[in-house]
Amino acid sequence: MPRIPCAILACVWWAAMGAAAANGTGADSSYTAADFARVRKFDAHVHANTDDHRFLDIARKDGFELLSINVDYPDFPPLDRQAQVAHRLRAAEPQRFHFVTSFSMKGFGGANWTADTIRHIDTEIARGAVAVKVWKNIGMVERDAQGRLIMLDDPRFDGVMSHLEARRIPLIAHQAEPKNCWLPLEAMTTENDRSYFRDHPEYHMYLHPEQPSYESLIAARDRFVARHPALNFVGAHLASLEWSVDELARFLDTDPNATADLAARMTQVQYQSKSDFDKVRRFFIKYQDRLLYGSDLTENPPDLQERAQNPPMDPGQFSVEADTFWRSDWIYLATAEVRPIDAIKSDIQGLALPKSVIDKIYYSNARRVFGRLPR
Ligand SMILES: [Zn+2]
Repeated sequence: MPRIPCAILACVWWAAMGAAAANGTGADSSYTAADFARVRKFDAHVHANTDDHRFLDIARKDGFELLSINVDYPDFPPLDRQAQVAHRLRAAEPQRFHFVTSFSMKGFGGANWTADTIRHIDTEIARGAVAVKVWKNIGMVERDAQGRLIMLDDPRFDGVMSHLEARRIPLIAHQAEPKNCWLPLEAMTTENDRSYFRDHPEYHMYLHPEQPSYESLIAARDRFVARHPALNFVGAHLASLEWSVDELARFLDTDPNATADLAARMTQVQYQSKSDFDKVRRFFIKYQDRLLYGSDLTENPPDLQERAQNPPMDPGQFSVEADTFWRSDWIYLATAEVRPIDAIKSDIQGLALPKSVIDKIYYSNARRVFGRLPR
């Protein structure tokens, strides 16, 4: 066998490594579980509803910046109290704690609502907010004076949304619910959804056919996005397309300005990767610039009556549960480890995404999307 010059061998080796890195198949191209705390990360979807610093303490230890989202949610403290907490935590650690403002629907459609809402948003942006949140109460709860549900593509939102477009303020939108919410309990794909909707039949849309269908809410959201093509749109919870990476890909292809956070929907992604691992992994690699890591971890006030549908389950164990939750997601996305996932009663293989993809999903995409973050 002819001797191959070392230079050529080196060349072949580098080419192979380059191709492996591009495909994310190189043996050393992904992180390990032990890398978790040392890699800088950004959780783009949390709710800090107290200012006792426990959230910041565990985030510092685990290497996270936090984006805390104020939301007009009856299980959370009132919006002005949420804003006060956000201002205090941001003042305490402005490089680590960031927040998103929201607005009230009180007076919607009235003569002053648009001007008042814009003034409120601008005040909060001046205080450090980096985006605005709209919640599923738009589409599912709020009704106009005629008793009709108000959808997000209602033209009465146009003044506020044009303001966000002009000022390049991102909009984080939680519209609809997981598709499981419209299915009978036995057809749901994850245990966490099944137990939640078993306990809360009032929110289980399968039992409420008089309410809008999943498809009609998603269609309203899609019309809204088409109506505001310059809007920096972030679809919370995988844009409520958590059940299908194909559908989510279609959504992201339709609106080049849209991104999606992963908050509180990892089990639905794991459910898909159980049956088609390669498809899910290809999706994350193809859309590596469009996805933001988020958890939905919520630190609620100590009043258990105000518990929301958010992790963790035991507010007394917040630090331990937050750390466990974050590490579980890291092991799935960043490493090749196989771990049991209770919510789908299955062992799940980690996606071992390339380091460069993890760095985007866990950090630099959020830095790009939320341009007002302090440098
Ligand atoms: Zn949330």
